Amino acid sequence: MKKSRKLFALLPAKLLLVLLLLLLPACSPAADSNSGRLAEGAKQGTYYEIFVRSFADSDGDGIGDFIGLASKMDYLVDLGITGIWLMPCFASPTYHGYDISDYYSIHPDYGTMEDFEAFIAEADKHGIAVILDLVVNHTSSQHPWFQASRDPESPYRDWYYWTEDGEGVNLRATAFGGNRVWNETGTGHYAGLFWGEMPDLNLDNPDVREEIKNIAAFWLDKGVAGFRLDAVPHIFDAAKTISNEQSFSERNLEWWTEFADFCRSIDPDCFLVGEVWTSPAARAEYVAAIDSVFHFDMGETLARSIVAGVNNGNAFANNMKLEYDRLAEVNPDAINSIFLSNHDQTRIITALRNDIDNMKMAASVYLTMQGLPFVYYGEELGMLGGKPDENIRTPFLWGGDDPYLTTWRESPHNKNTIPYDVQIADPDSLLSHYRSLIRLRAATPALFAGVLEPVEQENGAIISYKMISPEQTVLVLHNISEAEQTVYLNGEGKILFVTKKEGFSANKDSIVLPAKCSVVIEQ
Ligand code: CA
Repeated sequence: MKKSRKLFALLPAKLLLVLLLLLLPACSPAADSNSGRLAEGAKQGTYYEIFVRSFADSDGDGIGDFIGLASKMDYLVDLGITGIWLMPCFASPTYHGYDISDYYSIHPDYGTMEDFEAFIAEADKHGIAVILDLVVNHTSSQHPWFQASRDPESPYRDWYYWTEDGEGVNLRATAFGGNRVWNETGTGHYAGLFWGEMPDLNLDNPDVREEIKNIAAFWLDKGVAGFRLDAVPHIFDAAKTISNEQSFSERNLEWWTEFADFCRSIDPDCFLVGEVWTSPAARAEYVAAIDSVFHFDMGETLARSIVAGVNNGNAFANNMKLEYDRLAEVNPDAINSIFLSNHDQTRIITALRNDIDNMKMAASVYLTMQGLPFVYYGEELGMLGGKPDENIRTPFLWGGDDPYLTTWRESPHNKNTIPYDVQIADPDSLLSHYRSLIRLRAATPALFAGVLEPVEQENGAIISYKMISPEQTVLVLHNISEAEQTVYLNGEGKILFVTKKEGFSANKDSIVLPAKCSVVIEQ
């Protein structure tokens, strides 16, 4: 194309890529032929974060439940998903469940313990690992432990942070959202870092630690593969902790090490991934204790690059490499849990200007990178959502006639979002793109078990890297710009995936990547 020649003339520096000769014909989206799945266990493949309330309703009350979720397992299998993160599903007075009132029972809106067990069995039958959201920084104010603790004479008093006289405590301390940490009652003040109705558990109390381990054992015995750990760096915190003998991160790390050791004594392969929503250096500390931390800020950084169409100096791949190195320095086996956005954040497609090509590009990048990707339910449809939180967690769009559609909340954002039943029949849809990539990842050792190595080049429109596992190497190229780019190559290779785009071509010397197009080449 004339336009591309002109552009290339402006970018005379040739891409210095490894020797490569392309053997397959162009435009061969081979991913769909990868029906075989090689990724296995709870630490490989691709996870799917599910808000049960919004996913699939089996009994017509408009609220998602475990029978509905079990009924939709074929969808997740077809998508290529190998693991599920369930947002909180224990008894709770709130719709979101992040304040638990009974750690040993299922939220009544979601069904019974038998329903949960049947769901776990169904997931297991399909080779899908399930991890539960475990919230132990705090309970619900409705939890019987907290209710008992209101009495200064109760043995449960010390299970929470209570002070009668405020000695050694800053009663005026504020935390998230500017809320006061300390809440006054008739029998004293208690700490609630996130919200007054979420009183903080006191993990200095050995009985509390033992009880949390009992809870973990209870659910591991039910067959769950591990936990997504909430609020990891906040268990001990200046705002609620009187003792200041150690730094808080040391005390948090000590607790999570004790917890992880316990979980591994029950299931050596259990998977623990933590929410450590802090600086990169601070989050890396925690992989000394747990398997993985979420790569907060990756999604927005990637979205900014894609919207700008610029990746000077291969900056994105190089920055990812820095993160992998940071984690590996603490723990060589650490897993980077990569994601675009989650249940607490504006859905990623907003940052991508609600553009499907940008969304496909973001998916192509993170689903071909080192680590463990987490897809937030509905992301694969391009579902929109922004604050308040309820509007980030709206019903999955199965399509108008689907009997499992949940209706507990009407989304103000998704009136024009194309639902599942339409997208699944369209090979060019965002959903089909996700399906190809996730299945490709599950079938490709270099992708699900590989290590990322940036491949330096001088074209500021391209993100490029290799993924290398002991048995396989793939080269991944993304043209994030709005203009066609030509990449010069030598050597041999087989195209495993290419974004469905007009204008892609490859020969033995070069590859033409249309705007917003990605290619994965096995070497
Ligand atoms: Ca229901």
